[in-house]
Amino acid sequence: MIQQSLGLRSLTSAMPAVYRAPRTTVAALALLLATLVLTASRLAAQVDTAGRPTVLLIATGGTIAGVQDAPGTLGSYRAGTLSAAQILASVPELARYATVEAEQFSNVASTAITPAHWVALAKRINTVLHERSDIAGVVVTHGTDRLEETAFFLYLTVLSEKPVIVVGSQRPATGISPDGPINLLAAVRTAVSPQAVGKGVMVAMDDRIVSAREVRKLYQRVGGFEGGEMGTIGVIGGDGPEFFFAPVRRHGRTSEFSLADVDSLPRVELTFSYPGGTGHQFHPVPDGVVVATTGFTRAESATYLALRQSGVVVVTTFPSGENVNATRSPRARIEPVKAPVTAADSAAAAERAAPPSVTAQHLTPQKVRILLMLALTRTTDRDELQRIFKEY
Ligand code: ASP
Repeated sequence: MIQQSLGLRSLTSAMPAVYRAPRTTVAALALLLATLVLTASRLAAQVDTAGRPTVLLIATGGTIAGVQDAPGTLGSYRAGTLSAAQILASVPELARYATVEAEQFSNVASTAITPAHWVALAKRINTVLHERSDIAGVVVTHGTDRLEETAFFLYLTVLSEKPVIVVGSQRPATGISPDGPINLLAAVRTAVSPQAVGKGVMVAMDDRIVSAREVRKLYQRVGGFEGGEMGTIGVIGGDGPEFFFAPVRRHGRTSEFSLADVDSLPRVELTFSYPGGTGHQFHPVPDGVVVATTGFTRAESATYLALRQSGVVVVTTFPSGENVNATRSPRARIEPVKAPVTAADSAAAAERAAPPSVTAQHLTPQKVRILLMLALTRTTDRDELQRIFKEY
Protein backbone atom coordinates (compact mmCIF):
# COMPACT_ATOMS: atom_id res chain seq x y z
CA MET A 1 0.00 0.00 0.00
CA ILE A 2 2.85 2.35 0.91
CA GLN A 3 4.63 1.41 -2.29
CA GLN A 4 1.50 2.10 -4.30
CA SER A 5 1.15 5.60 -2.76
CA LEU A 6 4.79 6.35 -3.49
CA GLY A 7 4.27 5.12 -7.04
CA LEU A 8 1.32 7.41 -7.52
CA ARG A 9 3.23 10.39 -6.08
CA SER A 10 6.14 9.90 -8.42
CA LEU A 11 3.67 9.58 -11.32
CA THR A 12 1.97 12.89 -10.44
CA SER A 13 5.29 14.68 -10.10
CA ALA A 14 6.15 13.56 -13.62
CA MET A 15 2.97 15.15 -15.05
CA PRO A 16 3.33 18.20 -17.31
CA ALA A 17 3.09 21.52 -15.44
CA VAL A 18 0.07 22.68 -17.48
CA TYR A 19 -2.12 20.31 -15.54
CA ARG A 20 -1.96 20.20 -11.79
CA ALA A 21 -4.63 18.17 -10.11
CA PRO A 22 -6.03 19.46 -6.83
CA ARG A 23 -4.44 17.80 -3.81
CA THR A 24 -7.74 16.35 -2.61
CA THR A 25 -8.31 14.61 -5.99
CA VAL A 26 -4.84 13.08 -5.90
CA ALA A 27 -5.40 11.82 -2.35
CA ALA A 28 -8.79 10.33 -3.29
CA LEU A 29 -7.27 8.63 -6.31
CA ALA A 30 -4.45 7.21 -4.19
CA LEU A 31 -6.98 5.85 -1.72
CA LEU A 32 -9.08 4.29 -4.48
CA LEU A 33 -6.07 2.67 -6.11
CA ALA A 34 -4.82 1.30 -2.79
CA THR A 35 -8.28 -0.14 -2.07
CA LEU A 36 -8.41 -1.81 -5.50
CA VAL A 37 -4.97 -3.35 -5.03
CA LEU A 38 -5.90 -4.63 -1.58
CA THR A 39 -9.20 -6.10 -2.77
CA ALA A 40 -7.51 -7.83 -5.69
CA SER A 41 -4.84 -9.37 -3.47
CA ARG A 42 -7.51 -10.55 -1.00
CA LEU A 43 -9.44 -12.24 -3.83
CA ALA A 44 -6.26 -13.93 -5.09
CA ALA A 45 -5.50 -15.14 -1.57
CA GLN A 46 -9.02 -16.66 -1.33
CA VAL A 47 -8.44 -18.75 -4.42
CA ASP A 48 -5.16 -20.09 -3.07
CA THR A 49 -6.10 -20.91 0.53
CA ALA A 50 -7.37 -24.21 1.91
CA GLY A 51 -10.87 -22.80 1.47
CA ARG A 52 -10.90 -23.93 -2.13
CA PRO A 53 -13.72 -26.32 -2.98
CA THR A 54 -12.97 -30.02 -3.15
CA VAL A 55 -13.45 -32.02 -6.32
CA LEU A 56 -13.17 -35.78 -6.71
CA LEU A 57 -11.51 -36.87 -9.93
CA ILE A 58 -12.41 -40.42 -10.93
CA ALA A 59 -10.18 -41.71 -13.71
CA THR A 60 -11.36 -44.48 -16.04
CA GLY A 61 -8.67 -44.36 -18.76
CA GLY A 62 -8.85 -43.21 -22.39
CA THR A 63 -6.63 -41.03 -24.53
CA ILE A 64 -6.46 -38.41 -21.78
CA ALA A 65 -4.34 -41.03 -19.99
CA GLY A 66 -2.66 -42.14 -23.21
CA VAL A 67 1.11 -42.47 -23.64
CA GLN A 68 3.00 -42.81 -26.93
CA ASP A 69 5.95 -45.05 -27.70
CA ALA A 70 7.61 -41.93 -29.12
CA PRO A 71 6.41 -38.99 -27.03
CA GLY A 72 6.07 -35.63 -28.77
CA THR A 73 5.25 -37.18 -32.15
CA LEU A 74 2.08 -37.91 -34.05
CA GLY A 75 2.68 -41.59 -33.38
CA SER A 76 0.40 -44.18 -31.88
CA TYR A 77 -0.26 -44.49 -28.17
CA ARG A 78 -1.74 -46.74 -25.54
CA ALA A 79 -4.94 -45.30 -24.05
CA GLY A 80 -5.42 -45.72 -20.32
CA THR A 81 -1.76 -45.68 -19.27
CA LEU A 82 -1.24 -42.68 -16.95
CA SER A 83 -2.69 -43.01 -13.47
CA ALA A 84 -5.22 -40.61 -11.99
CA ALA A 85 -2.44 -39.10 -9.85
CA GLN A 86 -0.20 -38.58 -12.89
CA ILE A 87 -2.98 -36.88 -14.84
CA LEU A 88 -3.60 -34.58 -11.89
CA ALA A 89 0.08 -33.79 -11.44
CA SER A 90 0.35 -32.74 -15.09
CA VAL A 91 -1.98 -29.76 -14.54
CA PRO A 92 -0.63 -27.73 -11.56
CA GLU A 93 -2.99 -24.91 -12.55
CA LEU A 94 -5.86 -26.96 -11.10
CA ALA A 95 -4.70 -25.95 -7.63
CA ARG A 96 -5.85 -22.40 -8.28
CA TYR A 97 -9.47 -23.52 -8.45
CA ALA A 98 -9.91 -26.60 -6.28
CA THR A 99 -8.42 -29.21 -4.03
CA VAL A 100 -8.63 -32.22 -6.28
CA GLU A 101 -8.66 -35.74 -4.86
CA ALA A 102 -7.98 -38.56 -7.29
CA GLU A 103 -9.38 -42.06 -7.52
CA GLN A 104 -8.63 -44.77 -10.09
CA PHE A 105 -11.83 -46.53 -11.19
CA SER A 106 -10.28 -48.32 -14.16
CA ASN A 107 -7.56 -47.61 -16.70
CA VAL A 108 -8.83 -48.80 -20.06
CA ALA A 109 -9.65 -47.60 -23.55
CA SER A 110 -13.33 -46.74 -23.40
CA THR A 111 -14.23 -49.44 -25.93
CA ALA A 112 -13.70 -51.77 -22.95
CA ILE A 113 -16.31 -49.97 -20.87
CA THR A 114 -19.46 -52.08 -20.39
CA PRO A 115 -22.87 -51.54 -18.80
CA ALA A 116 -21.46 -53.24 -15.68
CA HIS A 117 -18.90 -50.40 -15.46
CA TRP A 118 -21.71 -47.83 -15.78
CA VAL A 119 -23.58 -49.34 -12.86
CA ALA A 120 -20.48 -49.56 -10.66
CA LEU A 121 -19.38 -46.01 -11.55
CA ALA A 122 -22.81 -44.50 -10.93
CA LYS A 123 -23.08 -46.31 -7.59
CA ARG A 124 -19.65 -45.03 -6.59
CA ILE A 125 -20.52 -41.42 -7.44
CA ASN A 126 -23.88 -41.63 -5.66
CA THR A 127 -22.15 -43.00 -2.56
CA VAL A 128 -19.46 -40.32 -2.59
CA LEU A 129 -21.90 -37.46 -3.07
CA HIS A 130 -24.13 -38.89 -0.35
CA GLU A 131 -21.33 -39.43 2.19
CA ARG A 132 -19.06 -36.47 1.43
CA SER A 133 -20.93 -33.19 1.78
CA ASP A 134 -17.58 -31.41 1.42
CA ILE A 135 -17.29 -32.46 -2.23
CA ALA A 136 -18.49 -29.75 -4.58
CA GLY A 137 -18.49 -31.90 -7.68
CA VAL A 138 -17.06 -34.91 -9.47
CA VAL A 139 -14.92 -35.04 -12.61
CA VAL A 140 -14.74 -38.31 -14.55
CA THR A 141 -11.91 -38.74 -17.06
CA HIS A 142 -12.90 -41.12 -19.85
CA GLY A 143 -12.02 -42.31 -23.33
CA THR A 144 -13.87 -40.41 -26.01
CA ASP A 145 -15.14 -43.42 -27.97
CA ARG A 146 -17.79 -44.25 -25.38
CA LEU A 147 -17.81 -41.01 -23.44
CA GLU A 148 -21.29 -39.91 -24.45
CA GLU A 149 -22.83 -43.21 -23.33
CA THR A 150 -21.24 -43.20 -19.88
CA ALA A 151 -22.11 -39.52 -19.44
CA PHE A 152 -25.78 -40.14 -20.31
CA PHE A 153 -26.00 -43.15 -18.00
CA LEU A 154 -24.65 -41.01 -15.14
CA TYR A 155 -27.05 -38.20 -16.10
CA LEU A 156 -29.96 -40.58 -15.50
CA THR A 157 -28.64 -42.36 -12.41
CA VAL A 158 -26.61 -39.93 -10.28
CA LEU A 159 -29.44 -38.62 -8.12
CA SER A 160 -27.77 -35.41 -7.03
CA GLU A 161 -27.80 -31.70 -7.76
CA LYS A 162 -24.02 -31.56 -7.64
CA PRO A 163 -22.17 -31.20 -10.91
CA VAL A 164 -20.63 -34.29 -12.47
CA ILE A 165 -18.40 -33.43 -15.40
CA VAL A 166 -17.15 -36.05 -17.84
CA VAL A 167 -14.04 -35.17 -19.81
CA GLY A 168 -11.63 -36.72 -22.27
CA SER A 169 -9.16 -35.73 -24.94
CA GLN A 170 -8.59 -36.46 -28.59
CA ARG A 171 -4.79 -36.27 -28.36
CA PRO A 172 -2.69 -38.38 -26.00
CA ALA A 173 -1.08 -36.84 -22.95
CA THR A 174 2.39 -37.15 -24.50
CA GLY A 175 1.35 -35.84 -27.94
CA ILE A 176 1.94 -32.51 -29.62
CA SER A 177 -0.42 -29.88 -28.14
CA PRO A 178 -2.40 -32.32 -25.99
CA ASP A 179 -5.96 -31.18 -25.31
CA GLY A 180 -6.34 -33.22 -22.11
CA PRO A 181 -4.85 -30.68 -19.67
CA ILE A 182 -6.99 -27.74 -20.85
CA ASN A 183 -10.10 -29.94 -20.96
CA LEU A 184 -9.39 -31.19 -17.44
CA LEU A 185 -8.92 -27.65 -16.18
CA ALA A 186 -12.22 -26.67 -17.81
CA ALA A 187 -13.93 -29.68 -16.23
CA VAL A 188 -12.70 -28.85 -12.72
CA ARG A 189 -13.66 -25.18 -13.10
CA THR A 190 -17.12 -26.30 -14.21
CA ALA A 191 -17.41 -28.79 -11.34
CA VAL A 192 -16.87 -26.01 -8.77
CA SER A 193 -19.05 -23.44 -10.52
CA PRO A 194 -22.18 -22.55 -8.50
CA GLN A 195 -23.91 -22.06 -11.86
CA ALA A 196 -23.37 -25.74 -12.66
CA VAL A 197 -25.44 -26.96 -9.71
CA GLY A 198 -28.65 -28.70 -10.81
CA LYS A 199 -27.67 -28.88 -14.47
CA GLY A 200 -26.96 -32.60 -14.33
CA VAL A 201 -24.07 -34.45 -15.84
CA MET A 202 -22.20 -32.40 -18.41
CA VAL A 203 -19.26 -32.85 -20.72
CA ALA A 204 -16.55 -30.19 -20.80
CA MET A 205 -14.52 -30.40 -23.99
CA ASP A 206 -13.00 -27.79 -26.28
CA ASP A 207 -14.23 -24.89 -24.09
CA ARG A 208 -17.83 -26.07 -24.47
CA ILE A 209 -20.17 -27.31 -21.76
CA VAL A 210 -22.55 -29.83 -23.31
CA SER A 211 -25.41 -31.56 -21.56
CA ALA A 212 -24.83 -35.31 -21.31
CA ARG A 213 -28.26 -35.90 -22.85
CA GLU A 214 -27.22 -34.34 -26.12
CA VAL A 215 -23.44 -34.65 -26.33
CA ARG A 216 -21.89 -36.70 -29.12
CA LYS A 217 -18.56 -37.36 -30.67
CA LEU A 218 -18.90 -36.15 -34.25
CA TYR A 219 -15.32 -36.72 -35.31
CA GLN A 220 -11.98 -37.82 -33.95
CA ARG A 221 -10.21 -34.47 -33.86
CA VAL A 222 -10.02 -31.63 -31.39
CA GLY A 223 -13.38 -29.84 -31.48
CA GLY A 224 -15.18 -33.08 -32.33
CA PHE A 225 -17.59 -33.04 -29.38
CA GLU A 226 -20.76 -31.03 -29.73
CA GLY A 227 -24.35 -30.81 -28.62
CA GLY A 228 -26.41 -30.84 -31.82
CA GLU A 229 -29.43 -28.60 -32.05
CA MET A 230 -30.10 -28.26 -28.31
CA GLY A 231 -27.19 -29.47 -26.21
CA THR A 232 -24.46 -26.87 -25.75
CA ILE A 233 -25.52 -25.10 -22.57
CA GLY A 234 -22.44 -23.02 -21.83
CA VAL A 235 -18.84 -22.19 -22.58
CA ILE A 236 -15.66 -21.95 -20.56
CA GLY A 237 -14.21 -18.53 -21.25
CA GLY A 238 -11.24 -16.73 -19.70
CA ASP A 239 -13.36 -15.90 -16.66
CA GLY A 240 -14.49 -19.49 -16.26
CA PRO A 241 -17.72 -21.35 -16.97
CA GLU A 242 -20.57 -19.26 -18.34
CA PHE A 243 -24.00 -20.87 -18.73
CA PHE A 244 -26.73 -19.82 -21.14
CA PHE A 245 -29.21 -22.71 -20.92
CA ALA A 246 -30.29 -25.49 -18.53
CA PRO A 247 -31.71 -28.96 -19.24
CA VAL A 248 -35.39 -29.18 -18.33
CA ARG A 249 -36.10 -32.85 -18.98
CA ARG A 250 -35.87 -35.25 -16.03
CA HIS A 251 -32.37 -36.09 -14.81
CA GLY A 252 -30.32 -36.14 -11.60
CA ARG A 253 -32.46 -35.40 -8.55
CA THR A 254 -35.67 -35.68 -10.57
CA SER A 255 -34.78 -39.04 -12.14
CA GLU A 256 -36.69 -42.16 -11.10
CA PHE A 257 -33.75 -44.44 -11.90
CA SER A 258 -32.24 -45.22 -8.54
CA LEU A 259 -29.73 -48.04 -8.78
CA ALA A 260 -30.23 -49.03 -5.14
CA ASP A 261 -31.87 -52.31 -6.15
CA VAL A 262 -30.18 -52.73 -9.53
CA ASP A 263 -27.03 -54.80 -10.00
CA SER A 264 -27.23 -55.53 -13.71
CA LEU A 265 -29.14 -54.13 -16.65
CA PRO A 266 -31.60 -55.78 -19.04
CA ARG A 267 -30.19 -56.77 -22.44
CA VAL A 268 -31.03 -54.26 -25.14
CA GLU A 269 -29.75 -54.54 -28.71
CA LEU A 270 -29.34 -51.79 -31.25
CA THR A 271 -29.78 -52.04 -35.01
CA PHE A 272 -30.40 -49.96 -38.14
CA SER A 273 -33.04 -50.02 -40.83
CA TYR A 274 -32.06 -49.33 -44.43
CA PRO A 275 -33.34 -49.62 -48.03
CA GLY A 276 -34.07 -53.24 -48.81
CA GLY A 277 -33.66 -54.19 -45.14
CA THR A 278 -35.55 -57.16 -43.73
CA GLY A 279 -34.97 -56.45 -40.03
CA HIS A 280 -32.49 -58.03 -37.66
CA GLN A 281 -32.94 -61.40 -36.00
CA PHE A 282 -31.47 -61.69 -32.52
CA HIS A 283 -30.09 -64.80 -30.85
CA PRO A 284 -30.52 -65.00 -27.95
CA VAL A 285 -33.68 -62.91 -27.91
CA PRO A 286 -33.04 -59.72 -25.91
CA ASP A 287 -35.36 -57.83 -23.56
CA GLY A 288 -35.49 -54.82 -25.86
CA VAL A 289 -34.41 -53.64 -29.29
CA VAL A 290 -33.72 -50.11 -30.48
CA VAL A 291 -34.00 -49.51 -34.21
CA ALA A 292 -32.50 -46.40 -35.79
CA THR A 293 -34.87 -45.60 -38.62
CA THR A 294 -36.65 -42.88 -40.52
CA GLY A 295 -39.29 -45.46 -41.51
CA PHE A 296 -39.42 -49.25 -41.94
CA THR A 297 -39.51 -51.28 -45.13
CA ARG A 298 -42.45 -53.68 -45.21
CA ALA A 299 -40.15 -56.58 -44.40
CA GLU A 300 -38.64 -54.74 -41.43
CA SER A 301 -42.10 -53.85 -40.23
CA ALA A 302 -43.05 -57.55 -40.25
CA THR A 303 -39.85 -58.59 -38.47
CA TYR A 304 -40.19 -56.08 -35.67
CA LEU A 305 -43.89 -56.70 -35.32
CA ALA A 306 -43.13 -60.40 -34.84
CA LEU A 307 -40.43 -59.48 -32.35
CA ARG A 308 -42.87 -57.35 -30.39
CA GLN A 309 -45.43 -60.14 -30.47
CA SER A 310 -42.81 -62.41 -28.92
CA GLY A 311 -42.57 -59.98 -26.00
CA VAL A 312 -39.57 -57.86 -26.98
CA VAL A 313 -39.95 -54.11 -26.51
CA VAL A 314 -39.07 -52.26 -29.71
CA VAL A 315 -38.17 -48.58 -29.60
CA THR A 316 -37.45 -46.47 -32.66
CA THR A 317 -35.56 -43.25 -33.06
CA PHE A 318 -34.11 -41.29 -35.96
CA PRO A 319 -30.45 -42.15 -36.73
CA SER A 320 -29.60 -38.47 -36.21
CA GLY A 321 -31.28 -38.40 -32.81
CA GLU A 322 -32.71 -35.01 -33.79
CA ASN A 323 -36.31 -35.95 -34.54
CA VAL A 324 -39.10 -34.96 -32.18
CA ASN A 325 -42.08 -37.25 -32.72
CA ALA A 326 -45.63 -36.74 -31.63
CA THR A 327 -46.52 -39.92 -29.75
CA ARG A 328 -48.42 -42.25 -32.03
CA SER A 329 -50.79 -44.93 -30.88
CA PRO A 330 -48.66 -48.08 -30.89
CA ARG A 331 -51.68 -50.39 -30.58
CA ALA A 332 -52.87 -49.46 -34.05
CA ARG A 333 -49.82 -51.13 -35.45
CA ILE A 334 -50.17 -54.60 -33.92
CA GLU A 335 -51.79 -56.03 -37.03
CA PRO A 336 -50.76 -58.80 -39.39
CA VAL A 337 -48.85 -57.52 -42.40
CA LYS A 338 -50.50 -58.33 -45.75
CA ALA A 339 -49.84 -57.25 -49.31
CA PRO A 340 -51.68 -54.01 -50.18
CA VAL A 341 -54.56 -54.56 -52.61
CA THR A 342 -56.76 -51.49 -52.19
CA ALA A 343 -55.91 -47.87 -51.38
CA ALA A 344 -57.08 -48.52 -47.83
CA ASP A 345 -54.70 -51.47 -47.63
CA SER A 346 -51.88 -49.25 -48.82
CA ALA A 347 -52.69 -46.67 -46.17
CA ALA A 348 -52.77 -49.42 -43.54
CA ALA A 349 -49.48 -50.78 -44.83
CA ALA A 350 -47.96 -47.31 -44.65
CA GLU A 351 -49.17 -47.01 -41.09
CA ARG A 352 -47.67 -50.38 -40.27
CA ALA A 353 -44.43 -49.27 -41.91
CA ALA A 354 -44.29 -46.38 -39.47
CA PRO A 355 -42.13 -46.86 -36.35
CA PRO A 356 -43.86 -49.39 -34.10
CA SER A 357 -44.26 -49.57 -30.37
CA VAL A 358 -42.46 -46.81 -28.46
CA THR A 359 -40.97 -43.77 -30.15
CA ALA A 360 -38.10 -41.81 -28.62
CA GLN A 361 -37.85 -38.04 -28.70
CA HIS A 362 -34.72 -36.28 -29.84
CA LEU A 363 -32.25 -38.89 -28.59
CA THR A 364 -29.51 -40.73 -30.44
CA PRO A 365 -29.97 -44.50 -30.89
CA GLN A 366 -27.17 -45.40 -28.47
CA LYS A 367 -28.73 -43.18 -25.79
CA VAL A 368 -32.21 -44.56 -26.47
CA ARG A 369 -30.67 -47.94 -25.73
CA ILE A 370 -29.43 -46.70 -22.35
CA LEU A 371 -32.75 -45.14 -21.41
CA LEU A 372 -34.54 -48.35 -22.44
CA MET A 373 -32.17 -50.46 -20.33
CA LEU A 374 -33.02 -48.34 -17.31
CA ALA A 375 -36.71 -48.14 -18.14
CA LEU A 376 -36.90 -51.95 -18.35
CA THR A 377 -35.59 -52.18 -14.78
CA ARG A 378 -38.89 -50.53 -13.81
CA THR A 379 -41.58 -51.60 -16.26
CA THR A 380 -42.48 -53.37 -19.49
CA ASP A 381 -45.82 -51.61 -19.78
CA ARG A 382 -45.99 -49.87 -23.15
CA ASP A 383 -47.72 -46.70 -21.91
CA GLU A 384 -45.29 -46.40 -19.02
CA LEU A 385 -42.37 -46.85 -21.40
CA GLN A 386 -43.78 -44.19 -23.71
CA ARG A 387 -44.18 -41.87 -20.72
CA ILE A 388 -40.53 -42.39 -19.84
CA PHE A 389 -39.44 -41.59 -23.38
CA LYS A 390 -41.47 -38.38 -23.25
CA GLU A 391 -40.20 -37.25 -19.86
CA TYR A 392 -36.43 -37.86 -20.07
N1 ASP B 1 -9.64 -45.13 -27.91
C1 ASP B 1 -9.75 -44.03 -27.01
C2 ASP B 1 -10.78 -44.36 -25.95
O1 ASP B 1 -11.96 -44.19 -26.17
C3 ASP B 1 -10.10 -42.80 -27.72
C4 ASP B 1 -10.10 -41.56 -26.88
O2 ASP B 1 -10.08 -41.57 -25.67
O3 ASP B 1 -10.16 -40.51 -27.51
O4 ASP B 1 -10.42 -44.78 -24.90
